[in-house]
Amino acid sequence: MKRICIDMDEVLADTYAKFEDIYAERFGRRLQPEDYRGMKIYDLPGAADIRNAMYEPGFFRDLPVMEHAREVAEELYANYEVFITTAATEFKHSLIDKWEWLHEHLPFIHHHRIVLCGDKRIVHGDFMIDDKVRNLSGFNGTGLLFTASHNVNDEGYYRVNNWLEVRDYFRRERNDHQGLA
Ligand SMILES: [Mg+2]
Repeated sequence: MKRICIDMDEVLADTYAKFEDIYAERFGRRLQPEDYRGMKIYDLPGAADIRNAMYEPGFFRDLPVMEHAREVAEELYANYEVFITTAATEFKHSLIDKWEWLHEHLPFIHHHRIVLCGDKRIVHGDFMIDDKVRNLSGFNGTGLLFTASHNVNDEGYYRVNNWLEVRDYFRRERNDHQGLA
């Protein structure tokens, strides 16, 4: 089986929804996606300290699941060696929060397939789905760039805009593979 490494934040889990909530609490104004196109919310003027929320217990525990992420991840899990690969060690509470989040939302993923790491250059595989070019650039296999506000101007990788596009990419990959066999 080919190996797919799947990121959590901004791929499986919607951190921007939470940052929008925190921004609204702090500044009394609800952001629209176009307000932070091409950047992260905490890169907006005056908002730098919002990033500190990630150090708090629970930040990563109640993030919304990206649309169609569960069903597509389950389809991939049945057809590939799927690993969840997430940079977690900067935020010590995220280690438990992410474990519990996966247990709740993607319970079919065996604990052997969960990699809570520091630097993803340690990860090897055939495919990596991630929203950060920095992670894809250090990967030995094929990188798929999952669209997020901060990466809309990044190039050089096959772009997937949502989980249905991920599903279709790997359905084609399996068909092509079977065609060659
Ligand atoms: Mg990410």
